[in-house]
Amino acid sequence: MSLLLRGGLVVTQDAERRIFKGDVLIEDGRIAAVGKIDEGGDEVIDCTGCAVIPGLINTHNHVANTLMRGLADDLPLEKMLEKTFAIDAHMTRRDVQSGALLGCVEMLKNGITSFVDLFYWEDEVARAARESGIRAFLAWVILDQEYTTQKGSPLKNAETFIRKVKGEDRVTPMAGVQGVYVCSEETYLATKDMSEREGVAMHTHLSETREEVHNHQRKHGLRPVEWLDKIGFLSNKLLAAHCVWVTLNEIRTLSSRGVKVSHCPVSNMKLASGGYAPVPEMLDEKVAVSLGTDSPVSNNGLDLFSDMKVCSLMHKASRWDASVMPAQKIFDLCTVDAARCLGRDDLGSVEVGKTADLAVVDFREPHTTPFYLENVLSQLVYSVRGSDVKVTIVGGDVLVRNGKVTSVNENDAVARAQTATIELLEGS
Ligand SMILES: [Zn+2]
Repeated sequence: MSLLLRGGLVVTQDAERRIFKGDVLIEDGRIAAVGKIDEGGDEVIDCTGCAVIPGLINTHNHVANTLMRGLADDLPLEKMLEKTFAIDAHMTRRDVQSGALLGCVEMLKNGITSFVDLFYWEDEVARAARESGIRAFLAWVILDQEYTTQKGSPLKNAETFIRKVKGEDRVTPMAGVQGVYVCSEETYLATKDMSEREGVAMHTHLSETREEVHNHQRKHGLRPVEWLDKIGFLSNKLLAAHCVWVTLNEIRTLSSRGVKVSHCPVSNMKLASGGYAPVPEMLDEKVAVSLGTDSPVSNNGLDLFSDMKVCSLMHKASRWDASVMPAQKIFDLCTVDAARCLGRDDLGSVEVGKTADLAVVDFREPHTTPFYLENVLSQLVYSVRGSDVKVTIVGGDVLVRNGKVTSVNENDAVARAQTATIELLEGS
């Protein structure tokens, strides 16, 4: 089965960051040819007036929380968590599945082909991911027994999940850790041991708020990054979300340990975490950085096009420097750099031999006009909206066509999530 994307502006994200007008041929889930292609495909999609881009990668999410979108706005993190935990306590497996499916549908429509998730009941999130066809990196969250609402041991639950899912093509299990405020040294080290034993990567929250850092420092005499380094937890298998409150020394530690960062600017701004993650310094120190939406409670969307723009503007505004975090670097964070954060060099660019995770973005709208080779990249970061995505392809499968999800019934997914939320609100 071959698929030809004909006549688009191809934003390759290859080493030279080439952009040209041409075609992309997909065969057996991989990119077979890029350029001027004379042969046809079993299916041909006309990409005139469109950009063909690598599918976007969202490296931090709690996707089932779509059900709590708009529930806890205008509150700082601690108050937001109080409010969401109260609802969360009533969530059933079915609710998690409905919320996750809604989020997968939303992400696919916005051109997101891969996402990283941190949650309990990742087996339900996995079910939703499989149903939608999106590529998912799912980290079952581990925390100290005294803080968890999970039945049984979170570490055991995570291990069981990892063993069950390992080896699947589109669902990759990870070991998750909530954060220093609910995890002891033993929990961190047991998680690291388990992840090494099972050969999976790890995902955690790290230095998100000033309070978290100060409390930890009071308790242990060290900042979270310093402490995690001292106990031997940091490694190149760790993807850490946020890292807002890190010093230059801590950035150097993250770099030397090979820790990857998921930067979540919209969530950080909305929760007023204070300050701005020092991403330009991380990049200077060669830390691999990517972009995450974070939970739909603290974003409230799952649209990386919107977040790319916010990300760039946030850093420009805070530095009084319009040249900081330019469009090309921002687009890298959601594509090639994100692939690096996941240790997946087969993702993130449109090149021969790579996995065919792609999106086609329609530029024939008032807000994206005019477009041409020289401005297409800046349009992608500053003008495009998720709703401009016409086609989303994962592993060669067309999962969004003409802006509509093909793998699941979109209307059913929306209706199910709506019903689940109303029932949850009435029951709590
Ligand atoms: Zn988070």
